[in-house]
Amino acid sequence: MNNVPTPQSRASVLLHVCCAPCAPHPIELLQQQYRVTLFFSNSNIAPRDEYLVRLQHVRRLVSIYHLELIEDEYDHTAWLEHVRGLEDEPERGARCVACFAFSLRRAGEYAAQHGFDAFTTTLTVSPHKATEKIFAVGQRFANFLPLDFKKQDGYARSTARARQHHFYRQEYCGCEFSQKRHRQSA
Ligand code: SF4
Repeated sequence: MNNVPTPQSRASVLLHVCCAPCAPHPIELLQQQYRVTLFFSNSNIAPRDEYLVRLQHVRRLVSIYHLELIEDEYDHTAWLEHVRGLEDEPERGARCVACFAFSLRRAGEYAAQHGFDAFTTTLTVSPHKATEKIFAVGQRFANFLPLDFKKQDGYARSTARARQHHFYRQEYCGCEFSQKRHRQSA
């Protein structure tokens, strides 16, 4: 008798995806154990044109990996309201924690409402983001999988795939405050 789980019998995971270049390693790792669906929920990104370019490359990513993509509503006004008072915080500070909470709440709620066994996020692959802060936020919501995708050279693996597939790589994290800092330091 063969006890190897079929793809249909595997647990399902909703993977919040921040952008195409970060996603390949998390997808490839999760696919060894789970049925993976991507969730693009990134109302932090500004301006809207930048959001659309990143989304377009995530659409290419899902066609390469043959995955389903859920595209959440883009509501940058609500995101700005959510981080009000934290505009001058440095990257990796309180604004970023609030930013993670905005997107991960939406991912967690979508996962719960649609019967996913778990949810997680590609955000941990980035060396610019503190994994423990992402975990602390994710664990506020039910069925969060705390996976540190930086491990096993995760960032380098994702970057290599991103080059291979010519995914757009952004020059700043996402919001207008990170864009301003990038311009000032350029
Ligand atoms: S710098 Fe990045 S993580 Fe921090 S608030 Fe802006 S978009 Fe979010």
